[in-house]
Amino acid sequence: MSGRTRTRACPERTCVGCRERAAKAELLRTVVIEGECVPDLRGTLPGRGAYVHPALVCLDQAVRRRAFPRALRVPGPLDVKALRRHVEQTHGKT
Ligand SMILES: [Zn+2]
Repeated sequence: MSGRTRTRACPERTCVGCRERAAKAELLRTVVIEGECVPDLRGTLPGRGAYVHPALVCLDQAVRRRAFPRALRVPGPLDVKALRRHVEQTHGKT
């Protein structure tokens, strides 16, 4: 609440799906837990996070280009079922 300055007050992250930069608050943080990519709804889960727009188009793009394992520094494919379900339920099918 300190004005609209272009400072670190509004941190930006890159969406792993569409590769566009967006305010951290507009993106969904995801972390990997036991080989599964899960949404970090409170932004409090430990470990490396990957940011994606909470939209199926971005999620699908990220999956297609294997952006999650790369961003999260884990080998092999990740299960994104929980993440997909979350996006579908909270943001609709677009
Ligand atoms: Zn995106």
